Amino acid sequence: MGETISGRCLCGAVRYRTESAPKWTALCHCESCRRACSAPIVAWMGFAEAAVTWTGARTRFQSSEIATRSFFPTCGTQMSFESTRWPGEIHLYAVSQEEPDNYRPDLHCHYSERLDWLNLSDTLTKHPGTADIQ
Ligand SMILES: [Zn+2]
Ligand SMILES: [Zn+2]
Repeated sequence: MGETISGRCLCGAVRYRTESAPKWTALCHCESCRRACSAPIVAWMGFAEAAVTWTGARTRFQSSEIATRSFFPTCGTQMSFESTRWPGEIHLYAVSQEEPDNYRPDLHCHYSERLDWLNLSDTLTKHPGTADIQ
């Protein structure tokens, strides 16, 4: 994985650039992520909030008591996740980066919430809940 990562929403109006490689990566199976993205699984990468520079205006939605998600309303792309559980950290959607093939997930989290029909053959650690990675 490179030192910096650039990414964008579907229409390109919102863009980000990171000053570092991700602190961690994870595939999340939780219902909140699934519903936010209408997807069976969500690939994440975590950064220090200060390491990410944005252009374009995102809209924020508080998705739980501790979590805020941002997205761009015009094209509907989910852009970030922040939680009081991980202060100073921002989680970006791995597949929004310009070169998503460069991404490598470290583990699965909230695997106990996975969809029944999703059968994965990788050998990554499958944490039933949060992996408490920072
Ligand atoms: Zn867009
Ligand atoms: Zn999740």
